[in-house]
This record gives sequence, C-alpha cells and structure tokens, in this order.
Amino acid sequence: MYSCLFCKIANKQISSEIVFENDSLLAFKDIRPSAPVHYLIVPKEHIQSIAHLKDNHRGVLSDLVFSAKALALKLGLGGYKLVFNVGREGGQIIDHLHLHLLGGWTNNEK
Ligand code: 5GP
Ligand code: ZN
Repeated sequence: MYSCLFCKIANKQISSEIVFENDSLLAFKDIRPSAPVHYLIVPKEHIQSIAHLKDNHRGVLSDLVFSAKALALKLGLGGYKLVFNVGREGGQIIDHLHLHLLGGWTNNEK
C-alpha cells in the first residue's frame, strides 16, 4: 500500500534501524521508544490491525510472535512485554499491523 508508513519502511523507501528481516516480516527500532528496549515487528504484507486478520493470516501472526521471542533472546532480555494496539481506542496510530517488543527495565523502573 503506497501511502502506508510501515509499507514504506518494509520497502526501504523510508530508512529505519532494521535488526531482523526475513521473507515475511521485519523488526526495527521504534523511533520514539517507550521502554529502554523497544522494537516493532511488522509483517511485510499490509494488514491493518489484529481486527483485520483473516483465517489465512494465522501463519503471519505466529511468525510475528516467534520472531519477537527470538529477538528478545538475541538481545538478552530477561523478560519483556509484547503488545498489539488495536484501533484508535486501543492506542493504534499506525494502521499497519505491528507487535511491540518492550523491555530492558531494571526491577524498579517498570
Ligand atoms: P502504535 O501506537 O500504532 O501501536 O505504534 C506505532 C509506533 O510506531 C509508535 O511507537 C511510534 O513511535 C512508531 N513510529 C511512528 N513512526 C515511525 C517511524 O517513522 N519510524 C519508526 N522506526 N517508528 C515509528
Ligand atoms: Zn502497510
């Protein structure tokens, strides 16, 4: 989708700090981190949100979660949060499905 920010990031029309990429998704640093460690894991296919998932997207969703798990392990995170914001009322600003990987807090920071 031409006008979508995360499609443009996935197509490398807009630069980002990509830390992982495969055929179906990519992970990059959030530009305005809300945790010491904050990455976004994004499918290359334009899907608007969790609310727009279809049955044939089960594999995409599974890939997002397994990639988040692998990235957290690579980053040495002892614990982390995985967050999907869904719709404006759910805090979603970018209308392209993305999984937030948040972590890196010390015990009393969270
Ligand atoms: P949402 O609120 O839609 O779940 O989260 C969107 C996230 O995308 C926010 O955390 C925001 O900081 C991040 N973001 C917005 N624009 C850009 C951008 O151009 N580059 C990167 N790397 N992150 C962005
Ligand atoms: Zn998109």
